[in-house]
Amino acid sequence: MNQPLFSPQGVYAQGEGAPPRVISAPQRYIQGAGVLKSTGHYVKSLLKVSRPAIFASRRGLSTQGLEVEMSLKANGINSVTAQFGSECSLSEIDSHTETLREAGIDCLIAIGGGKVADTGKCIAHRLEIPVVVVPTLAATDAPCSALSVVYTPQGTTDHVQFFPQNPEMIVVDTDVIAAAGERYLVAGMGDAMATWYEADTCLHNPMARNSLGALPTLASVAIGEICARTLFEFGEAAAESVRAKQNSLALDKVVEANTLLSGLGFESGGLALAHAIAGGYPEIKIVHDNYLHGEMVAMGVMAQLAMQNSPDRERVARFFARVGLPIHLNQLSISAPNRDDVDKVIKLALSRPIAKNMPMPVTHATVKEAILSGDKLGLAVTNEIGDDAYRRLHD
Ligand SMILES: [Zn+2]
Repeated sequence: MNQPLFSPQGVYAQGEGAPPRVISAPQRYIQGAGVLKSTGHYVKSLLKVSRPAIFASRRGLSTQGLEVEMSLKANGINSVTAQFGSECSLSEIDSHTETLREAGIDCLIAIGGGKVADTGKCIAHRLEIPVVVVPTLAATDAPCSALSVVYTPQGTTDHVQFFPQNPEMIVVDTDVIAAAGERYLVAGMGDAMATWYEADTCLHNPMARNSLGALPTLASVAIGEICARTLFEFGEAAAESVRAKQNSLALDKVVEANTLLSGLGFESGGLALAHAIAGGYPEIKIVHDNYLHGEMVAMGVMAQLAMQNSPDRERVARFFARVGLPIHLNQLSISAPNRDDVDKVIKLALSRPIAKNMPMPVTHATVKEAILSGDKLGLAVTNEIGDDAYRRLHD
């Protein structure tokens, strides 16, 4: 499916009545310290699986992949392995699909970051088998959703693939996340903070559609709200604990916010200008090569809240600055010489249907004004409270 399930003609299908309200979620979400070594037990007890494949990068296969393999073995399940290359692209998806079809697997366990999860979902869908996602970073909300962003082999967005179902199971070991880099967790917070502001925008605009092509439920918007509240309360402490490579209650809460709450909230609550702009930033090569999705989303949130003249603008900007997310264009390496590149970003943002989930006119001029207004606030906040956290993560 290249279109959302509930709006087959696209998000703004003409001549249709309003679509239903729909919320979508994975069958099981399991999170805790050390749960990785119980993966075999969960797979055996909850899924009828006899021959799973473990799908991860070369490094992932030799670390967390090995642990999952042993845990499956301890439960009497023999697995095969498949190595993720570098991109969630059609060529990579197709070649793995063929090899794994011949191997006769009945479940795919994707272990890694957002691109591994997205590739794994595509392969499992083609093989019509359940997919288990084991995130090793809390940098994106990819693990829980029923969609994958497919890239060109060069790494720019090609299309979004929608699936009839969310992953069967997500297993998040918070000890693994605690050992990953601080910048990944912080980027995940940027992606997660957008959830509430975008879902709330969609709830209040009857023309807006969520990623399923449907109207958002109150439940998914409430999930977005507690996601933002959790980040404001525990975000800094969680980043501190990852810096110290230690697990903590704050980290536990933020991992749930970045993975489950953000995942359910974005998919069923709906996206808006923040993600439309974030999707445009990779057009600028220096941004594409040096920044994470969640960092681009943070800049998108700055612009969206500016367009909405949101009372939360300053609070969000201060939070982003304290955890080290970019809040002005210079922090995204967009300085005076390449400022004109912002026009390319806006052009691409305007082509995304989610931009139209905003209730006000979204034009080149209004988006540019919003980006520049967000930039201005970001500079003012940086001047006032400094950029220590940003420098720590980016130098
Ligand atoms: Zn995102």
